[in-house]
Parts: sequence; C-alpha cells; structure tokens
Amino acid sequence: MRIAGLGQPVTAFLLSGLAWVTCRANEEEARHRMVQDQIVARGVTERRVLLALEKVPRHEFVPRQFRRLAYTDRPLPIGEGQTISQPYIVAYMTAALALQPGEKVLEIGTGSGYQAAVLAEITTNVFTIEIVEPLARSAEERLRRLGYRTVQVKCGDGYHGWPEHAPFDAIIVTCAAEPIPPALIEQLKSGGRMIIPRGKPFSEQWLVLVTKDAVGQVTTEPVLPVAFVPMTRPRH
Ligand code: SAH
Repeated sequence: MRIAGLGQPVTAFLLSGLAWVTCRANEEEARHRMVQDQIVARGVTERRVLLALEKVPRHEFVPRQFRRLAYTDRPLPIGEGQTISQPYIVAYMTAALALQPGEKVLEIGTGSGYQAAVLAEITTNVFTIEIVEPLARSAEERLRRLGYRTVQVKCGDGYHGWPEHAPFDAIIVTCAAEPIPPALIEQLKSGGRMIIPRGKPFSEQWLVLVTKDAVGQVTTEPVLPVAFVPMTRPRH
C-alpha cells in the first residue's frame, strides 16, 4: 500500500505506528473482557484488584508462542516445567490478601513475574523469591523493562521466607506446600494475611487463608480447591 504524496519510508513508518496502536487497543479490549467475563463474573469485585488486572500486560509474561492465549481462561506454560496461573486465580488470591497501598508483601514463586506485577499495581513494596534461576533472572528483566522497578526479586528457596525484610503485611505463595512453612507464618505481621495452596503434589490441594491477629494467634481457613505446581526444595 502507498499513501499518495508520501515517500515509502514515511508510509511504512505510519503503517507500523498504526499497527502498534491497533494491537494495543486489541490487547486492552482483551484484558477488559478477561476481567469482566472471567473475574467479575465469578464474584471478585475488589476495585484495586480489577484495576490491576486491567492494567498489567499479561501477554508480555507468557512465551511468544502462547501470546494469543494470554487472556484466555487458563494457566499457561512459562518454561522450566512451570506455569503462570489462570487470571481468575491470580485475581482471587490477590483479593484474599486485602492489600493496601504501601503495605509490604512477599511472594514465593516469582515464575514469570506476572503476579508480582499485579501486586506492584497496588503497593510499591513487593518482594518475590524464585528458586529456578533462569526464571528469576528473566522475571527480573521483564519487570524492569515494563516499569515495575520497585519489585525486589531474589533467587533462592522461598521456604525460608525473606527474614531481612520481615515482617510482611501479606504473603502469597504460588506453589503448593504441606505443611505451611513455619518461617512464613513467623514472618507475617500481627494483622497479616497469607494465601497459600496447601497439599501434596498430585493430591487434593486447597487454597488456605492464614491470618494472624493482634495477639499473634494464627487462624487457617480453606477457601478454594486448586491445582498448583509443588514447592520444591534444593537438593543437598
Ligand atoms: N506466580 C507465578 C507463577 C508461579 S508457578 C507467575 O505469576 O507467573 C510457581 C513457581 O514457584 C515456579 O516458578 C517455581 O519454580 C517456583 N517455586 C517452586 N518451589 C519454590 C521454592 N521453594 N522457592 C521459591 N520458588 C519456588
């Protein structure tokens, strides 16, 4: 195609600009549909959570070959045998944390960095730990590139939490553990909330909401049956 009166390089530049704008609009529309049809429709209504999911470009967090599936109602592979959770599960877990702006949150299982980006839309105090080094490295690069510069990524075993930055207002674990790692309960503030998939791999798992009250009393409540990859431990 040629646009009369314009040279070829200018035309190509304008067309690629147009393609970029169209693509962006399509992604925004896909995200909006995702939030309405998969998340609001299933009962998650917390405004901050919905706004965060509307904003984070999920397609940037999945491998190129899965981009066209980024906004569909399912988990997707992210390499190294790991997966990015289904959008509804990300929304549900984030809502369960009842996170307030400025609160300090720890995530175990950075994976692609998507959940960390969603948290970073709500608070600038996000800490995340990933045990698989290539995933930790690529998630950190991706988060920087997309402007989530305050998220701190560490490569290590999240079983021990991150004592240097404890205590946390909220902890979110995105790999299944049984029992709940004691260090994570310790590193929760009084008044803190933790959401964690509990159960052995390939057996029944439940998302459990753990709360610590003002006097340090801990309560656990199973809230949703789920299927997560297991929390792995380093081999010695
Ligand atoms: N939250 C991620 C999805 C994570 S999948 C996202 O938004 O993309 C679970 C992740 O937990 C995997 O990347 C896995 O490598 C990591 N993981 C498993 N055991 C771990 C451990 N002991 N410490 C930290 N991360 C762990």
